[in-house]
Amino acid sequence: MSEKNMTWNDFVLQLVVDYCDKRTLRTFRYQDFLSDNLREIEEFRPSNRNAAAKVRQQLQVLRDDGHLTFVDNRGTYTLRGHDILSGELPDESALIEHIKSAPPDKREYLVETYVRDVGWAKLAKEKYGHACMMDSCGNTFRKNDGSYYIEVHHIVPLYKNGEDAIWNLSVLCAHHHKMAHYADNRTRLRMQSELLKIAETASE
Ligand SMILES: [Zn+2]
Ligand SMILES: [Zn+2]
Repeated sequence: MSEKNMTWNDFVLQLVVDYCDKRTLRTFRYQDFLSDNLREIEEFRPSNRNAAAKVRQQLQVLRDDGHLTFVDNRGTYTLRGHDILSGELPDESALIEHIKSAPPDKREYLVETYVRDVGWAKLAKEKYGHACMMDSCGNTFRKNDGSYYIEVHHIVPLYKNGEDAIWNLSVLCAHHHKMAHYADNRTRLRMQSELLKIAETASE
C-alpha cells in the first residue's frame, strides 16, 4: 500500500508493528513512541498540525479493535497478536515453523527458550543478571563461549495479557522455567506471585 492511500489507522498500526519489531519489545509508552517516531509522523500528512493528537486518537482505536492493550496505572501499550517479532528468534526456518505451529502456551515457552539476546530478553538479563531468581536458587552455567546460560520468563504470560515490561520479566534456570509453565496449578500460581513480588521490588 502506498503511503498516500494509507489511512491514519493503517499508518499508526504499521508504525507500531515496525517499532515493536525494531526494539524487540511489544510494550511501549506513548511519549517514547511519539518522540522516537516524530519524523515519520510529521511527514505522513505534513499539512496536519495536530499529528500528535491524531496518533493518540488512533492508538485508542487500535486498542478498541484489540490490536493493543493499555495498562492505566503503568501508562503502557502492548501490541497483541504478534507472538513472534522479527529478529526475536535465531534465523532458522525449521525452528520458527515448529514454534509457530505450537499452541499459544507452548509457543510462548519455546520463544522464551530460543529467544536471541535482544529486546525484552536483554532488558531482563541486564536488570536481573544470570542467576535464577526462584527461591534463591541462583542456578546458571557457563557456556563454551564463556557467557552464562539463563532463560527469560514472562511472569504473567503474554498470551494472558502480560507485557514485555520489566515488572513482568524474570530470569530462571531451565528447571524452574519448565516448572513455571508445566507444574500443577498451585505450584505455578505460587511461583507467579513470588516472582511478581521480587520483580516489583527490584523495579521500584
Ligand atoms: Zn516462561
Ligand atoms: Zn532455578
